[in-house]
Amino acid sequence: MKIAILGGGVAGIASAIAFRQQGFDVTVHERRAADENIGAGIVVWPNAAFVLAQFGVLDEMAAVAARPRAMRRLSRHGDDLGALDIGLIDARMGYPSLSVLRTDFQRILTSRLRSLGVDVQYGRRVVHIDTGDDEARVHFGDGSMLTADLIVGADGRMASCARRYVTGANTPIYQGFVNWIGVYEGPDITFDMDAISDYWGTGERFGIVPVGPHTAYWAGGAAQDAVGARDPAACHDELLRVFADWPAPMRQIIAGTPAARINKIHVHDHDPVATWHRHNLVMIGDAAHAALPTSGQGACQALEDAWHLARCVASHPDDLGQALQAFTALRFQKTAGITMAGRSLASSLFDRDEAACRARDENSRRADFTQLAMAMADGWSRHLPLRAGVPG
Ligand SMILES: Cc1cc2nc3c(=O)[nH]c(=O)nc-3n(C[C@H](O)[C@H](O)[C@H](O)COP(=O)(O)OP(=O)(O)OC[C@H]3O[C@@H](n4cnc5c(N)ncnc54)[C@H](O)[C@@H]3O)c2cc1C
Repeated sequence: MKIAILGGGVAGIASAIAFRQQGFDVTVHERRAADENIGAGIVVWPNAAFVLAQFGVLDEMAAVAARPRAMRRLSRHGDDLGALDIGLIDARMGYPSLSVLRTDFQRILTSRLRSLGVDVQYGRRVVHIDTGDDEARVHFGDGSMLTADLIVGADGRMASCARRYVTGANTPIYQGFVNWIGVYEGPDITFDMDAISDYWGTGERFGIVPVGPHTAYWAGGAAQDAVGARDPAACHDELLRVFADWPAPMRQIIAGTPAARINKIHVHDHDPVATWHRHNLVMIGDAAHAALPTSGQGACQALEDAWHLARCVASHPDDLGQALQAFTALRFQKTAGITMAGRSLASSLFDRDEAACRARDENSRRADFTQLAMAMADGWSRHLPLRAGVPG
């Protein structure tokens, strides 16, 4: 069976690896001119670490990652709002949580794919998908056209051609906040490698994820009513204005991050849809179920899609329709739940009402973090053969 994958992001590369491991013939078509990326970092939660272990790259990933043990919540003034015990999640799921820079993450996956005999084809922008003889036909910007036995649409959340082909529309929903993301590297700050720090304000939030003693990726978020300008040169000033009177690490991190390593994102997601395939095309990753960064699970769910899809196709060798049906049935509820959980946390984090934010902080102080860790672990474990109970 010949499989063409549209998009060389997390979902595209991961599904190419999973299909190659099952012995399929794959090609990957990516619009970018080369293997560059602008992301900051990723927390690989244990469900995603499981998939990386199946790909044979977990140890390599762990060697360039930090192993956070706690996610501390703090008020914008630095007051303690409680902490999630990540060690408990890891122990319950049997795999480690890792924080890693996006460049390292993508490099390790791409080189694993290369070791399986597949190079990503860059400069291949999909412009349109239509139907001929009951199968999807993919048209590229250079005028070429492609068909395959199976087409995997992994072309992201913002303008997915695959999503338009399957559902008739592909407009993502702006969720009322912006994120500035960046990577700090420098001798002036020594990070506590054990802890992710999540500072909550009123309509504002700042998260710091260490990946080394002097390296961390970070995200500053703020409520903003409409999608506005995205001037890279203005990011420093905007950030310093929004977080001017926040505790020192934030201002130091912002000031110490070069402008070239800061990106501003107007954050969008998609409403869950239950249909993910049409004819021989299936969409995966953000194209199928983009969740907000507050879910913490976007890239992790893209990895899960990749692993499940290859197995579903391999176990229905003579019936692609049944394979895609089985895949969607397996994945829809879990990903829809994660999308809705991401929205719920975002709406409380980016609430601009002072009283509501005070109540939210008080609830966090009183929360049962053990129960929360168990619920997260059990939700993320769904449909995966994890070794629950094995120390991470
Ligand atoms: C600020 C922020 C922070 C995040 N933090 C985390 C985190 O900590 N943990 C986590 O798990 N997730 C996180 N995510 C989510 C995560 O980045 C995504 O869910 C994940 O990258 C989805 O992978 P994907 O391959 O589906 O999409 P993408 O990574 O967007 O990849 C899509 C690929 O398709 C290509 N493409 C697009 N259109 C075309 C076309 N027409 N033709 C050819 N190629 C095309 C793109 O160039 C891209 O390479 C975060 C997201 C944001 C916005």
